[in-house]
Amino acid sequence: MNYTIGLIPGDGIGPDIVTASCKVLDAVGAKFGHKFTYNTYLAGGCAIDATGDPLPKETLDGCLKSDAVLLGAVGGPKWDNLPGKKRPEQALMGLRGGMKVFANLRPALMFKQLSAACPLKNEIVGNGLDILIVRELTGGIYFGERGRNADNTAAWDTEHYTKPEIERILRLGFESAQKRNKRLCLVDKANILESSRMWREVAVAIKDEYKDVELSYMYVDNAAMQLVRNPSQFDVIVTSNMFGDILSDEASQITGSIGMLASASLGDGSGPGLYEPIHGSAPDIAGQDKANPLATILSCAMMLRYSFNLTKEADLIERAVNKVLDDGWRTGDIAGSDFDKIKAEGKLVGTVKMSQLVIDAVNQL
Ligand code: NAD
Repeated sequence: MNYTIGLIPGDGIGPDIVTASCKVLDAVGAKFGHKFTYNTYLAGGCAIDATGDPLPKETLDGCLKSDAVLLGAVGGPKWDNLPGKKRPEQALMGLRGGMKVFANLRPALMFKQLSAACPLKNEIVGNGLDILIVRELTGGIYFGERGRNADNTAAWDTEHYTKPEIERILRLGFESAQKRNKRLCLVDKANILESSRMWREVAVAIKDEYKDVELSYMYVDNAAMQLVRNPSQFDVIVTSNMFGDILSDEASQITGSIGMLASASLGDGSGPGLYEPIHGSAPDIAGQDKANPLATILSCAMMLRYSFNLTKEADLIERAVNKVLDDGWRTGDIAGSDFDKIKAEGKLVGTVKMSQLVIDAVNQL
C-alpha cells in the first residue's frame, strides 16, 4: 500500500527526530511492502521566519490532504517575545482545530528497562506502568466563552460541552479500552460540575454497547492522587480537555522519561490523524545530535496502528525499541544515574545512531 504522510519537522530538535523517524518508517515499509511518501511543510518558528505566519495556509491544506501527519515540535527562545497570536505554539492550536482532531491519546508507558528513571518507589511501579489517557481536545473550558466585566474586576472562563462532543470522546475511550485491558475510568468532578454530570449520563446511556468494558468513575482530585499512589490500577482514563491536560502531564512524569512518550490526536476518522512526541523542541540540545528520537519513532508506531490499521508493523516498531533498550543502548536523557557507566561501555548514543539501532532491530526481528 502507498501512504502519504504530511511532515512538520518544526523547530529545535524537531527536524532531527522527524528525519530519524522517517528512516525507521521506510525500513518497516521495505519489510512489509508499503511505500510512504513524505510532503514536508513549515509550521512554528521556522514558518514565522519564512512567511510571518506560524501556520501558513499551505501547511494546513497539505496536512488535510495527507493520510496522516507527523509533527516534531515547535517553538524556541527566538520567538518567545512575540505576541500571542504570532507565537509558534499557535500552529499547534491551528492544526488541531483545522484537522478537527478532538481526541488526544497519550500512552503513559514505563519501559521496564528504564524503571530507575521513575520517581516513584519500586513497590509502587515494580510491575511496570501502562496507562492510556484519552483527553478531549477541542471543547470545554479552553474553548468556552471567556471574558472580563466592564470595570475589569472579574473574569470568567466557561466549561461547555454538548452531548455529541461528550459521546464521541467517550466512544473513543470505550473502543480504546476494548483494544487493551477493557477497563475505562471516567475522570470528572461530578460532585460539583453540571457538565461532569452530563458526561456520566452519556456514559451510562452508551455503556451497554460496550459490555466487555468495565466502566468506573473517579473524581479528578482523587485521580491525581491515585496516579502517584497506585497508578497500575488504571487501564484507560477518559476525561475532559483541562483535566486531561493536567493528568496526562502528571502521568508522563511518573514514567520518568519525556523523550520516550508518544501521542496521537484523532478525529472522527474522515480526516488524517496527527502524531507527535509529547516533548517540546528542546532548544538546549538542538543541533547537537543528542535528542532521543524514540518518542517520535513510537508516535510513528501509533500512526501505523490508528491511521493505517497496520498492527503487525506497529508492533514491530515497539518490539524493536524494546530490543534496543534491552541491549543497553541509551541517549543521554534516559541514561539516568548510570550515565558514566553507559558512556564508558560505549552505549551512550545520539539521535542518528539510536534510530539506526532501531532500524537494525526492525530488520532483525
Ligand atoms: P521541552 O520538552 O522542549 O524540554 C524539556 C527538557 O527535556 C529539556 O531539558 C530538553 O532538553 C529535554 N528533552 C525534551 N525532549 C527531549 C528528547 N527528545 N531527547 C532528549 N531530551 C529531551 O520543553 P520546554 O523546554 O519547556 O520547551 C521548549 C520549547 O518547546 C518552548 O518553545 C515550548 O513552547 C515548546 N514546546 C513545544 C511543544 C510542541 O511542539 N508540541 C510542546 C512543549 C513545548
